[in-house]
Amino acid sequence: MPGKGMLSLVGAGPGDPDLITVKGLRVIKDADLILYDALVNKQLLDSNPAAEKHDVGKRKGQHTYSQTEINKLIVYNVEKGKHVVRLKGGDVSVFARAAEEIEYASFFGIQTQVVPGISSYSGIAAQHQIPLTRRCEHESIWVTTGHTCKGQISEDIKHAAKSSATIVILMGMTKIKDIQTELLKYKSEDYPVAIVQNGTLPNEKHHITNLGNLVQDVLKHNLQSPALIIVGYAVVDNVCKLVSTKSIPQLA
Ligand code: SAH
Repeated sequence: MPGKGMLSLVGAGPGDPDLITVKGLRVIKDADLILYDALVNKQLLDSNPAAEKHDVGKRKGQHTYSQTEINKLIVYNVEKGKHVVRLKGGDVSVFARAAEEIEYASFFGIQTQVVPGISSYSGIAAQHQIPLTRRCEHESIWVTTGHTCKGQISEDIKHAAKSSATIVILMGMTKIKDIQTELLKYKSEDYPVAIVQNGTLPNEKHHITNLGNLVQDVLKHNLQSPALIIVGYAVVDNVCKLVSTKSIPQLA
């Protein structure tokens, strides 16, 4: 029915299909058309068998749809009266090009509903019991990218390197050497780093190393995208360390 269409941007969470929000799942079930990205867990699509589905995911070297094509597909289908759900990995506000889709849709008078998701940077750290912040110890988080729109590491990595923030780098695996070089300009070789590939999924791989050994360990353990690179003492400040080095409070 023309004029009744709507657009919902939904964050699917970091990988494990149980890590979507209740609201996100409800909105998926209401969709007529689901346009989903590469990192979305395909099991989530089974919750709405009747909906039309298109994989519009961008994979390295294999662009199925350009952003312009996705924008047009959204508007075309909403204007036909469909509830279009744009399902994106993690949270829609973190490296997900949500703003471009919201802006384009609004140009055609389409309002967008946004359903937040658990971003990979915080969800995966939490699942690994890595405290990205900790009272009196880790005061900031610097979430940045290893792949800017120009295909380079972000200049912010250079600034982050000078800070004491916990640094989380997304889309950084193809630029791991550059990242190591920049971070080592301000940090020591033994500065801790965790790499988590396919976090929260059954095929997850992870490895804890340090800046000096970063590149050789990535190669040795064949760690690849999609992966998070978490840099800072928070990486070794997890429960394992707590159990071994700090007294465990006794229950009364
Ligand atoms: N909107 C997403 C990020 C999209 S950018 C979010 O909020 O998480 C894609 C990058 O996110 C990947 O290259 C990788 O660095 C990271 N990522 C997403 N899912 C991941 C996962 N399950 N395991 C490790 N890294 C992941």
